[in-house]
Amino acid sequence: MQNSKITLKNRPVGMPLLSDFDSEEEWMPVTGQGEILLKSVYVSVDPYLRGKMNGTHPPIFELNEPISSKIIAQVIESNNENFKKGDYVSGYLKWQEYQIVNGKALQKIDSGTTPVSAYLGVLGITGLSAYIALMDIGKPKKGETLVVSGAAGAVGSVAGQIGKIMGCKVVGIVGTDEKADLLKSKFGYDAAINYKTTPHMKAAVAEVCPNGVDIYFDNVGGWISDAVIANMNQYGRIPVCGTISNYNDVEEQTSLSLLPIVVYKFLTIQGFLIGDHTAKFPVVTARLAEWLKEGKITYSETILEGFDKLPEAFIGLFEGKNEGKMIVKV
Ligand code: NAP
Repeated sequence: MQNSKITLKNRPVGMPLLSDFDSEEEWMPVTGQGEILLKSVYVSVDPYLRGKMNGTHPPIFELNEPISSKIIAQVIESNNENFKKGDYVSGYLKWQEYQIVNGKALQKIDSGTTPVSAYLGVLGITGLSAYIALMDIGKPKKGETLVVSGAAGAVGSVAGQIGKIMGCKVVGIVGTDEKADLLKSKFGYDAAINYKTTPHMKAAVAEVCPNGVDIYFDNVGGWISDAVIANMNQYGRIPVCGTISNYNDVEEQTSLSLLPIVVYKFLTIQGFLIGDHTAKFPVVTARLAEWLKEGKITYSETILEGFDKLPEAFIGLFEGKNEGKMIVKV
């Protein structure tokens, strides 16, 4: 039997291209003592992978080697007493249809209650990032105004809903009118701004946030963030979860100097990386699962079918092709 894998052929320059990836076939590996054979079921594609392709997010991917990301896989064969055939597991695994691992870095997944793909999104890294960055850095209080950029994506759609649970007025920034509608109809946002059709973002944010912005949950950076930060209230908090608008930059960007606003409005801007918060994962995952069960939060997924769709799904993140979590079903 043949095994497929997707490797990094070139380090992308600017927007990644399909030609930066290669797909290869190899013979199926043989399971040794203590090892398990996994079949990839759902593969997460994420914006941070871009930084691992060109060196801004170490450790970087090797050329001509399989890319890796968070994957939900099923155990096909097990020589390891901790796993049995049929178990669902998650871990940072290679973009391969099948692979052999020793099981040390895998987490078992409860496939009984929630669809397993949720462990790549709302109950996975993106849901955890939304919760921890908002609660720890944003410190939302009832009656405050929260603005979220990248609001219809995996992190943003969850962050906005948590803001509502905390009693905030929540405004989202997105790139299409359909996403703006989705924010209000599905995720409970109070208002939404389409940054692609709004000529004056600073004025648009001021209009929908007449009491100013207390918390800005930043997923995108760049000029969108400049427009929101100009509307911050005194003692505002800005969790910076990501800056996707910069990930494909080939030249250094010049940005407004925001420091005078930071000084005179006493703002707190704090960078966030989920890897710094692993100790909180069990408690936060349980909280999100409870909210999900109670119907207090919901989630969207954009699922592309077919292992070979991985490069297309990844590139789609930078084209706004996803609502909620972008996933490939193998
Ligand atoms: P996502 O929001 O589900 O997908 C990316 C979305 O970004 C796209 O759908 C698109 O939506 C928007 N986008 C793409 N290019 C853009 C641009 N040039 N300007 C403005 N918006 C753009 O991705 P995610 O996984 O939830 O990640 C969101 C952010 O959080 C990313 O910056 C990511 O790197 C970061 N992140 C950080 C951590 C951490 O530990 N710090 C963890 C997870 C994610 P529109 O159609 O609305 O433009």
